[in-house]
Amino acid sequence: MAITTSTQRVVPFFNYPSVFRSYKVQFMQAFSEIGERGAFIMQQDMCRFEKSLAEFIGVPFALGVGNATDGLHFAVRGAGISTGDEVIVSSHTMIATAAAVHFAGATPIPVDCGSDHLIDPAAVESAVTNRTRAIMPTQLNGRTCNMDALQAIANRHGLVILEDAAQGLGSKFKGRSAGTFGEGAAISFYPAKVLGCLGDGGAVTTNSPEMRDRVYQMRDHGRNENGEVASWGLNSRLDNLQAAFLDFQLKDYPNVISRRRAIAKLYDDRLRDVAEVVLPPAPGADDDHFDIYQNYEIEAESRDELKQYLRDAGIGTLIQWGGQPVHQMKVLGFTQDLPYTDRLFTRALMLPMNMSLSDEDVNYVCDVLRMFYGYPQ
Ligand SMILES: *Cc1c(COP(=O)(O)O)cnc(C)c1O
Repeated sequence: MAITTSTQRVVPFFNYPSVFRSYKVQFMQAFSEIGERGAFIMQQDMCRFEKSLAEFIGVPFALGVGNATDGLHFAVRGAGISTGDEVIVSSHTMIATAAAVHFAGATPIPVDCGSDHLIDPAAVESAVTNRTRAIMPTQLNGRTCNMDALQAIANRHGLVILEDAAQGLGSKFKGRSAGTFGEGAAISFYPAKVLGCLGDGGAVTTNSPEMRDRVYQMRDHGRNENGEVASWGLNSRLDNLQAAFLDFQLKDYPNVISRRRAIAKLYDDRLRDVAEVVLPPAPGADDDHFDIYQNYEIEAESRDELKQYLRDAGIGTLIQWGGQPVHQMKVLGFTQDLPYTDRLFTRALMLPMNMSLSDEDVNYVCDVLRMFYGYPQ
């Protein structure tokens, strides 16, 4: 294929070595220092990170866990949800959200999302039954849901809110951070997340002392502060090393968010006039939302052809969840019919959004996308 735009580049969707390389000196220092101390499991570094994280988002409690999937599961269990209960989730989420509910013995009920790709409050309202116990919104793509609308539904029906904030660290609704609404929330530190560690990691955040105590025990064999077994538990602790890796990155996190918002602004400036694509809300598009752009998920006409065209030009893109929203996973027993989400998944595509991108890279992606639809550079 002939690319006649600015010189051909290679723009991978995500650059995993860069997770290590961008803080290599600090990683090596932390590794050596903690290794020499022999401080591998639940040591001061994990406690320090839990404190930094709780302060950063504005909750009294944050607990390091092995990954966000476990964290969500603990939050569901910690809220007392079990057999016979239903929890409403967005179909546009990772299967992990639904699995967290399933393994508590309860039934995840996927519903449609709205035009911003986040769970649609009207769809939530219509899915409420007399078995519904909780709403578990996903703060998708680094954007926090309209929590006022969800809270109003929760209040009307006596439901609990649990947040899947795996993609939401630092994003806000009306000045309040994802992970601070509701009974409990989980955040992921998977390497490709905005705050990523060198492996798996996660945290549960909560305002509730009871939830904090339950998760504290569940992640560590049911043991309380005195090391006594006080309840049934599992083993899902945030590695002390990973916590140290995360703690120094969290200090730089506001700069990371600024850069990602700048990239989103650049995409928006360069692609807004392309009628064949629908862009995510631009940074500052409304006063209620502060988005951190975990992903830059567009809707595109002729999505598959565009994806191939970009690939031929050296640009990596991704369709979220391998192209399958939760309700389409019939093998897991889902029977819902969600036409809006079905259509969205024929159109959704994530453009590169990461800290390795230069402005030239973003401009190149925009040049090639414009060329595909026949727009001038
Ligand atoms: C990444 C992710 C998870 C799972 O996080 P892990 O830390 O990998 O378990 C759950 N939900 C959403 C929306 C995610 O993006």
